Amino acid sequence: MLEDAPIFDPEAFRLSVQEAELTTLARRLGQNRFAARAATFDREARFPTENYVDLREAGLLGICVPREHGGLGADYRAYCLTAAEIGRYCGATALTWNMHVCSCLWSGPLSDAMDMEADTRREHERRRASHYARIVRDGAIYAQPFSEGGSAAAGAVPFATTARREGEGWRLKGKKIFASLSGAANYYGILCTEARDEGGLSRRHTMYMAVPADAQGVSVTGEWDPLGMRGTVSRTLLLDDVYVDADAALMPPGVYYQAAIRNPHMFMTLTPTYIGIAQAAVDFTVRYLRGEVPGMGPEKRRGAPSKQHNVAEMQIRLEQTKALWFQAISEARVDPTREQVLRAYAAQFSAMENANELCQLAIRTCGGQSMLKSLPLERLYRDSRCGSLMLPWSADLCMERIGREALYLPGESD
Ligand SMILES: Cc1cc2nc3c(=O)[nH]c(=O)nc-3n(C[C@H](O)[C@H](O)[C@H](O)COP(=O)(O)OP(=O)(O)OC[C@H]3O[C@@H](n4cnc5c(N)ncnc54)[C@H](O)[C@@H]3O)c2cc1C
Repeated sequence: MLEDAPIFDPEAFRLSVQEAELTTLARRLGQNRFAARAATFDREARFPTENYVDLREAGLLGICVPREHGGLGADYRAYCLTAAEIGRYCGATALTWNMHVCSCLWSGPLSDAMDMEADTRREHERRRASHYARIVRDGAIYAQPFSEGGSAAAGAVPFATTARREGEGWRLKGKKIFASLSGAANYYGILCTEARDEGGLSRRHTMYMAVPADAQGVSVTGEWDPLGMRGTVSRTLLLDDVYVDADAALMPPGVYYQAAIRNPHMFMTLTPTYIGIAQAAVDFTVRYLRGEVPGMGPEKRRGAPSKQHNVAEMQIRLEQTKALWFQAISEARVDPTREQVLRAYAAQFSAMENANELCQLAIRTCGGQSMLKSLPLERLYRDSRCGSLMLPWSADLCMERIGREALYLPGESD
C-alpha cells in the first residue's frame, strides 16, 4: 500500500520539525491501523478502544502534556495538525481524542497565558502535575462533557451543573448530554458553575473539574444510536451529589471564564477532525475514479469531463478550506484582533460545512456503488454532518457572530 501524502506538506506549509514528525506518526497510525477498524466502530456504535491502545503506545495520549512531565509537549497548532491526520482515517477517534487533549491544553498552555496570582499559579501547577501523571504513567483518558441541552454550551448562560464547596473539596450536581467517551473515559472533565450562598450562578464562576468515572454518584444513561460519529458513544452523564477533592480542579476559579474571552481559538479544536474528513472525501474520490479502490474492479471512471469538473471543484474547495484553517490555527493567540476572531469563526464554519459538502460531492461524483456500506464514503458523509452541530461554535452561531461583529464594533448599538 502506498503511503498517503500529508494533508499539510511540511515543506510547503513550513511546519516545524515536531509538527512534521507528529503528523507523520498520526498519518501512519491512521492509514495502517485506524482506517481498517473505523467501519466496525461505526457499525457497532462502539468506542474505539483498540485505537486508544495505539495512541497510548505512540505517546499520543500525552501529546500536549509538557515535556518536563513526560509528554510530547506539542502546542495548539501541532495538536490541530496531528488531529487532522487522525480524522482522515477515523472521525470518532479524532473527535474523542480532542476531548481528551483539551484537558491538557486548557490546564496547560491556555492557563499559562492567563492572569493569575503567583500562589494560585503554584497551586495549579502542583495539581496539574498529578493530572499529567495519570495520563502519561497510567494511560488515563479524559472526556469533556459541557453540553447540557440549554444555552450554557453556547456560552450564553452559566452551566446549570453546579459545584458547591464542601470541606476541602467540592460537591457536584447536574446532567451532561452528549458526553463523548461515556463509559470509556477514566475521568470526566466537567464544566460547571460554582454555587455560592449569595447571588445566583454566574459565568465568571465557571469551574473545570476532573471527576473520576468511578466516583460515587456518577452514572451514564440513555441510548446511543445516532446518524454519525457513532464511535464517540456520547451518552448522557448524571452527577448525583458527587464529591471530589480540591485537587480535582483542572483550572483555578475564574480562569476558564478569562480564557473563553481572551483565547477564543480554544473552541476551534473540534475542527481538525473535519479537515481530516474533507481530505478523506477527496482521497477516496480520486482513488475511486482512478480504479484504485480495492474490491471495486479495475474500471477507471476518470475520463468523463463531468467527473473531472467535479474533482476540480472538490480540490478547489479543499484547498480553500485548508488555507483558511491553517491561517486561523497559526494565528491563535491571547487577545486576538477582531479580524483574527472573525477569521476563526469563518475557518470553523468552513471546516464543518465544507467537510460535508465535499462528502456530498464525492458521492454524487463517484456514483451509486460508492455509497455502499462496504466503502468508507457513506460513513464520512454521515460523520461530516455532525460537525456543524458542535457548540459553542455551531455553524449557525458562527454565521450570527460574523454578521453581528462585522457590522457592530464592540459597544456599538443602534
Ligand atoms: C457526535 C457528537 C458528539 C458530541 N460530543 C460532545 C462532547 O463530548 N461534549 C460536549 O459537551 N458536547 C458534545 N456534543 C454536543 C454538541 O457540542 C452540542 O451541544 C449539541 O449538538 C447541541 O445539541 P442541541 O440539540 O442541544 O442543540 P441546541 O442547543 O438546541 O442548539 C441548536 C442550534 O441552535 C443554535 N443555538 C443554541 N443555543 C443558542 C443560543 N443561546 N443563541 C443562539 N443560537 C443558539 C445553535 O446554532 C445550535 O447549533 C456532541 C455532539 C455530537 C453530535
